[in-house]
Amino acid sequence: MSHQDDPVVISEESNLVGGDQTIKKTTTTLSFYHELDHWQKDNHYILSGYVKETNSYKKCLASLTYIHNETVNIYTHLLPCSLVLAAVLYYIEYYLPIYPTYIGWEKFNFAQFAIAVTVCFGASASFHTIKSHSQKICKFGNQLDYFGIIILITCSLISIVLFAFYDDSFYWKQIFITTFLTLGTICTVLTLDPRFATPEYRPLRSLMFIIFGLSGLFPVVVAINKYGYHVAVTRSNAHWLVAEGGFYITGAVLYAMRVPERFDFSDGEGRSKVGRFDIYFHSHQIFHVMVVIAAFCHWKALVGCYKYLHEVILNESSY
Ligand SMILES: [Zn+2]
Repeated sequence: MSHQDDPVVISEESNLVGGDQTIKKTTTTLSFYHELDHWQKDNHYILSGYVKETNSYKKCLASLTYIHNETVNIYTHLLPCSLVLAAVLYYIEYYLPIYPTYIGWEKFNFAQFAIAVTVCFGASASFHTIKSHSQKICKFGNQLDYFGIIILITCSLISIVLFAFYDDSFYWKQIFITTFLTLGTICTVLTLDPRFATPEYRPLRSLMFIIFGLSGLFPVVVAINKYGYHVAVTRSNAHWLVAEGGFYITGAVLYAMRVPERFDFSDGEGRSKVGRFDIYFHSHQIFHVMVVIAAFCHWKALVGCYKYLHEVILNESSY
């Protein structure tokens, strides 16, 4: 039977409701790409497994209970979102005060990063859950998703600078933070203001996000100039930050290029390999996993910066 003509039946169940012999039958079917409305069409390499327009939050929430092509996108961010804050609060409570030089403000730096991760992953999981509702709600969810990314970039950049430039007597911390907040605000306006929602502003939006991400190099250049290469790298735990950037960029490039689903093929002689990545392992899912790994790398860098602050910077200054 043709793959294209056969909608996937996901669940079919019959329940006796109470004792009144009423039979409730629930059938959930998923749609193929060619069956979608225009606004739902995004990645033509993903052929099946779509939840068609629901016009119902209840149905969107119900889609959390069965497998479709957004399931992995949802849970790859919903699970970390649910765990991160509790894990970081535990860390703050039991691991930060081990240094006699611990002051107390440091916990807010860890907390703001944890909140940013929770907001970003929560917004992303929400978007992927409600994107099948309607065009209007999908657009709103998409803006929410981008806003979460902006929050995460801003808080990530600020968190490292606060530790790595802790003893800086110049105003570098203030300059960096002002720069990050300004760029974050510009990206927010470009994302949320309807005047910039048209396609002709898309290159400007992309450019501003790239500049925003690259602004993280600004403190690196200043640190190398100020402390020398070796100390700058040690202070900022640069190896973890480089790994973080690598995962973000790799994930974004794979997603932009629709890899691996673009390598699906059909030779017209019955050896079709089309649709292999519809449900699992398509580019957006890989992107999500890379983002989670990148956030973990950032966490490792932040912990490393905290240790350096107390074992070297404050330790030396206390003699
Ligand atoms: Zn996503």
